[in-house]
Amino acid sequence: MNKINNIKIIRPLWIEIDFKALVHNYRAIRRFVGKDVKIIATVKQSAYGHGLVQVAKRLSKEGVDYFGVGSMEEAVILRQAGLSERILVLTAVLDKFAHEFVESSVTAAVVSLSFAKKLDAAAKKAGKIASVHVKVDTGMGRLGVYYKQAHQFIKALAKLKNIKLEGIFTHFPSADCDRKYTLIQTEKFNEFIEELKAEGINFQYHHCANSAGTMYYPKAHFNMVRPGLILYGMKPLPKVPFTVKPVLSLKSRVVFSKHVPEGVSVSYGRTHFTRKPTNIVTVAAGYADGYPWALSKAQNDKNPPRVIIGNKFYKVVGRVCMDHIMVDTGNDKIKPAAEVILIGKKGKSEITAQEVADWARTIPYEITSRLSLKTPRIYKS
Ligand SMILES: *Cc1c(COP(=O)(O)O)cnc(C)c1O
Repeated sequence: MNKINNIKIIRPLWIEIDFKALVHNYRAIRRFVGKDVKIIATVKQSAYGHGLVQVAKRLSKEGVDYFGVGSMEEAVILRQAGLSERILVLTAVLDKFAHEFVESSVTAAVVSLSFAKKLDAAAKKAGKIASVHVKVDTGMGRLGVYYKQAHQFIKALAKLKNIKLEGIFTHFPSADCDRKYTLIQTEKFNEFIEELKAEGINFQYHHCANSAGTMYYPKAHFNMVRPGLILYGMKPLPKVPFTVKPVLSLKSRVVFSKHVPEGVSVSYGRTHFTRKPTNIVTVAAGYADGYPWALSKAQNDKNPPRVIIGNKFYKVVGRVCMDHIMVDTGNDKIKPAAEVILIGKKGKSEITAQEVADWARTIPYEITSRLSLKTPRIYKS
């Protein structure tokens, strides 16, 4: 890729997406859950920054069952790209847009009767049946009718003739940190499904497992899982039952280098001073690209952010700027054009999105999903 929006790319910042790793992760999940469990590949927010259409197309070749997206817009993008898999919009959409689901043949996560009625009316008008997945809240406290109050809601939904109750689902807030709570939620969800069954209300799909649910709670697989994080090779916890490989690398180049004496300050706020004569290089990546400003650390920080140049680690020094960071390369004179790895691997040296997240006191989800969409993505198969 050497053009974006018809403008030649000159700035040396890019993202590499390793399709081999993506496929490895998908197949590992597939093997782990078994062939009777369907997989919703969660590709919301541009596949966590990896690129919505490209990731979806690659997973389509693997025979993925369903896509989970973050908005109706993302569903439309997938349809326009020619993808014909089932798509579930994981967020709530305002009632007045219910007809869009019918027009694009997309499954809605239904959380209110008013929305369902609009959807039913739109389906009737189009002479179609709209599939929905009902979302119940068993303890996430976000979208979905609280499960104890969901009985009446679901009975009312079942009366709508142009709607098919295809799925029922719930979400875990703490499958990566609270085993007891997650097991209780799974049990509540299971009981609720059984109660509905006894009343003759059956759903084809039951699902609740995000990545942590998929990895650590086989009982929570039911007959469908919704992994996101692990598809992209990031881990909910350091210990995993099967290996996943990082899919994304963020790379740049040195654009300027200079030798400086002891005692000069580097970057805004003058929070960093050289302690001896050294080499400081300027790298083309900044907070506007999604390399967080929170990586601006105090000079005496015990765990400073690092990058890889050659196959050595070097410290990021001073504050992160909008378009640049500075790196102290000590006695190593590194010339402009040298490759710099901000996330990724070279030989035995590796920087994961998790590590960058730890340095910035955030989560890996935020690191990859906020990488600027204007940064070119290069897909390697
Ligand atoms: C984002 C999301 C997932 C995937 O979560 P991961 O932790 O990335 O696996 C699953 N279900 C819902 C409803 C989500 O919003």
